[in-house]
Amino acid sequence: MDQSKLKICVHCKDIKSLEGFYRDRKSADGRASWCKWCVRANERAYRRSPRGKKTRREFLKTPVGQRCRRRAGRVYGARYPEKISAHRVVRALLEAGVLIHEKCIVCGKVHNEEKNNLIFHHSDYFEPMCVFDLCNACHQKVHNESIKLSRDKRAVLHMKVQKSN
Ligand SMILES: [Zn+2]
Ligand SMILES: [Zn+2]
Ligand SMILES: [Zn+2]
Repeated sequence: MDQSKLKICVHCKDIKSLEGFYRDRKSADGRASWCKWCVRANERAYRRSPRGKKTRREFLKTPVGQRCRRRAGRVYGARYPEKISAHRVVRALLEAGVLIHEKCIVCGKVHNEEKNNLIFHHSDYFEPMCVFDLCNACHQKVHNESIKLSRDKRAVLHMKVQKSN
């Protein structure tokens, strides 16, 4: 490897090739002082911090932020089309009054319209009608797998039965 193309990261003190550093026009060698890995790790830590989350929320309210969000949504939708359509099905059923939030099937917390405290969780996006009514706390536990759902707990669709004459 060409010695002149090596650089030491001031953060992790690792020696890496110049490609391991982001471009920075302000610096003498045209590269940042932190390596890409340190920059990314630092950004990740910031995004997870309360301050980083607040900054992000505020950014998403700006026109540029909203454009970013829409673009990310499209990319996401292209990667997980079944997820997007499953959410669409649930929204349509909710609007039609066929699917109704009642209570969290795990802890029993009842639905509060104002707080909007329950969500419908899919255990399988390929089964859009198979949803579970959960509160935010239990929903998180389902996703980190500390709670397992059984299929008989799934939300029942409240079909409006048409009276036949
Ligand atoms: Zn580094
Ligand atoms: Zn719950
Ligand atoms: Zn979920």
